[in-house]
Amino acid sequence: MKKLAFLLVGLFLTTSLFAQLPKIEYVISMDEPHTHYFDIEVKASHLDAKTKQQGFLDFKMAVWTPGSYLIREYAKNVEALKASSAQKGLKSEKINKNTWRVYFPTTTNELTLNYKVYANELSVRTSFVDASHGYMNPASVLVYVNDWKNNPSTLQIKPYKTWSTISTGLKALGNNRFEAQNLDNLIDSPIEIGNQKILSFNLKGIPHTVAMYGEASFDDTKVTNDIQKVCEAARSVVGEHPCKDYTFLIHNLAAGGGGLEHLNSTTCQVTRTAYQSAKGYQDILSLIAHEYFHLWNVKRIRPKALGPFDYENENYTHLLWFSEGCTSFYQNYILRRANLMTEQEYLTAYLEDVNFIENQTGNQVQSVAESSWDAWIKYYRPNENSRNSTVSYYDKGAVLGGILNLEILRSTQGTKSLDDVMRYLYKEYYQKLGRGFSDEELQKAVEFIAGKKLDTFFQKYIFGTETIPYNEYFASVGMTMVDKNANTNTPYLGAEFRGGGLKITSIQRNSPAYNDGLNYGDEIISIDGAKIEDLAKFMTTKKVGDVLDIKVKRDGLEKSFKVTLTRNPKKDFALEPIVGATPTQLALYKKWLFL
Ligand SMILES: [Zn+2]
Repeated sequence: MKKLAFLLVGLFLTTSLFAQLPKIEYVISMDEPHTHYFDIEVKASHLDAKTKQQGFLDFKMAVWTPGSYLIREYAKNVEALKASSAQKGLKSEKINKNTWRVYFPTTTNELTLNYKVYANELSVRTSFVDASHGYMNPASVLVYVNDWKNNPSTLQIKPYKTWSTISTGLKALGNNRFEAQNLDNLIDSPIEIGNQKILSFNLKGIPHTVAMYGEASFDDTKVTNDIQKVCEAARSVVGEHPCKDYTFLIHNLAAGGGGLEHLNSTTCQVTRTAYQSAKGYQDILSLIAHEYFHLWNVKRIRPKALGPFDYENENYTHLLWFSEGCTSFYQNYILRRANLMTEQEYLTAYLEDVNFIENQTGNQVQSVAESSWDAWIKYYRPNENSRNSTVSYYDKGAVLGGILNLEILRSTQGTKSLDDVMRYLYKEYYQKLGRGFSDEELQKAVEFIAGKKLDTFFQKYIFGTETIPYNEYFASVGMTMVDKNANTNTPYLGAEFRGGGLKITSIQRNSPAYNDGLNYGDEIISIDGAKIEDLAKFMTTKKVGDVLDIKVKRDGLEKSFKVTLTRNPKKDFALEPIVGATPTQLALYKKWLFL
């Protein structure tokens, strides 16, 4: 057996050394960045026998980007695609929305594709180039050949003449050339091109680069040190780092607040003035903790559906509440662990999520498992009724992550936590089996660490919409959750007017506005015969049970409604210590909050 294995390995090495795999080299230029175009040249070489025989090759563009679960149709920005071989034009045609078929003679060994991509959307999921910098999310710019997805490819980047820096997680080959090991590596490695500021640090021998685009005023040393603290605390959850290097691409913008995780990098957009306030800065670090923790949770610890990806279709999973929600739980738990958030700040942030979901009527309609599955058509495509019909797998997942952590802490007398679930999944599924896990396997992993069956928990709170019995869990750490609004009796209409004005932007289910006939889009003309300038102020003069005569404009016509005000059901939960908590409860509290 040993000898045979040796021979096979020898044979494999020989073949792989001499057989040239079909290969793609991308040449990326941006000679007129102010026009928002990337110019792409794709050189496909070493065509295999099968491809030559069929006489055509299909080039595809992804329709979505991992981590952002919406079909974005990136091919919509592709223009002027032309194919050639040895300076001679080749026939090409589009065979569907994102596939270009290029025909060639069977003797062809290599061919070239040229096209332009309009890139004028500066989000973490799209691409952008202007006079100040270029940002490329490869999913939205580079075409690929599906049959060659396991082959390496190279990128030659030609920055605009006054730009000198390229930042990316891709392997650098020198002279602005980079290598992607395979399609997943290519698509999962955004690229920043410009004159960005570079900060750097080492984390246990792993070089980390922070590429800062955009004007912002911050202390380089402090920001570098704090990001390093975040990374150290995040690493301590699983205890191992999966990368050789890591790159943060940070866009400092007029308004921003979002990130997207990648294989060994992330793109984060932050508000450039946020560094100036303690809360704003903490929010930046929290975002960084979130994206960095994805290095483990979702990029390696992942549901089966989330890799290898199908870049042309939706990839469905019930588990975004775990992959995204528990990452949201960890983003602040990591800051607490790194002492970048106080105990009170952490509890306040956690309760914000609890209050958000418990005041959302959709929380009683959609489970987090359904919310995860339907991310593609609901979470990413909200409408005026979303608050009544959906729940965010981020917010509720973060709350559930906290509750599961408490469940494990109390069931194991503080010897284990959600960290152990992460560590177990990383070792068992990512390292040993090299695959993602199913819904059942995730539940089994949590049960294994907690040392108890959790069927009811998963049925009621993950796959169901029952209200979480918070105080059962908080009691174990000597705390109780109380509703500060329990004894209030403020009148309530249940209509929202986002962005000012008196046009209704949403209506809460079962509110007076909902039950008595007001609609989304109605514009309030008068109440009780008087024009209203400030509705909030007007409501302070009313009480529960008052009947309002509301006149609205709907579809160009005036309509009147009698609306009876009810008690505002809004909850305002806060955590309070239990008087006379036992030493066991107090000890678990300290363990819980790293005190
Ligand atoms: Zn995330």
